Amino acid sequence: MTAPAPLVLVFLDPAHPAGRIADASKPQLMATDQGATRGDGVFESMLAVGGEIRKIQAHLDRLQGSARAIDLEIPGQDGWRAAAATAVTAYREQFPAATPEDDEVVVKLIASRGPEGSDTPTAWVQASPPPAAGRRQRETGIDVVLLDRGYDSTVAERAPWLLLGAKTLSYAVNMAALRHAHKVGADDVIFTSSDGRVLEGPTSTVLLAHYETSDDGDGGTRVTRRLITPQLDSGILPGTSQGALFTAAKEAGWELGYGPLEPEDLFAADAVWLISSIRLLAPVNHIDGREIGTVEIRKQLTDELSELFAGIGG
Ligand code: PLP
Repeated sequence: MTAPAPLVLVFLDPAHPAGRIADASKPQLMATDQGATRGDGVFESMLAVGGEIRKIQAHLDRLQGSARAIDLEIPGQDGWRAAAATAVTAYREQFPAATPEDDEVVVKLIASRGPEGSDTPTAWVQASPPPAAGRRQRETGIDVVLLDRGYDSTVAERAPWLLLGAKTLSYAVNMAALRHAHKVGADDVIFTSSDGRVLEGPTSTVLLAHYETSDDGDGGTRVTRRLITPQLDSGILPGTSQGALFTAAKEAGWELGYGPLEPEDLFAADAVWLISSIRLLAPVNHIDGREIGTVEIRKQLTDELSELFAGIGG
């Protein structure tokens, strides 16, 4: 007998306030569900560490914002919180972590427009293990290619129906870009706009840093660390990880900045990262084959920011 796939499903159901656990080895969706037939729905991906879901409020708020953008009425935040807690507890019971360091669970919140002809959304939570590649890439870093997203950086405001700032289920383009990167020997992608701006990764936010030392005029050394991300109104998803890290970095004395950024800004940076909720902070070693900064500074800044990011709570 094969071992069950490490997956727990919990449906939001008014008859079950804590969520209804469903058999993950059996079909659970109607074939006409518009999430499946049209990618018409919204989702969030979060990470539970030691049983606690990181920055859950920011994810719930973004889920609500994405649902508003597609005019979808989804269950309230209390229902999602309860179902997510049920999913994490059930997952950790069924698939206990071998070591405390391995106690990470990916928690996805998904809401679709429901089966065709119905006006009730389908809403569920799924708990699964984090991909091994992501955990490895936090340590080794990644090689990235720049790919044209095909939109200019002002289109989000002009054409809100493109849903550029919403996290919808329509991720086929993002996945195609990642497959393209893998075919050309890279690990990931940074999208650029048709007017030459840096946007985001297919599943991550772009960060860059400058690190400078100068004489403080008192015989000592002044260290300046500056963390920059593309401007949020350029048709990108506002990252919950970027938001949380910016707050922590500011408290730790980092200067913060927002784009517009161009590819040359990436090449001139001391370090570049792709940051997201599951893989966390992945240092970028090369972009289009060109090395970013130096190994030493990349590692130093990555260690510093990873420690800050690990310290953020729920
Ligand atoms: N941008 C896109 C397109 C994403 O899909 C994601 C996450 O999946 C992010 C950015 C990073 O968001 P977060 O930090 O909230 O995971």
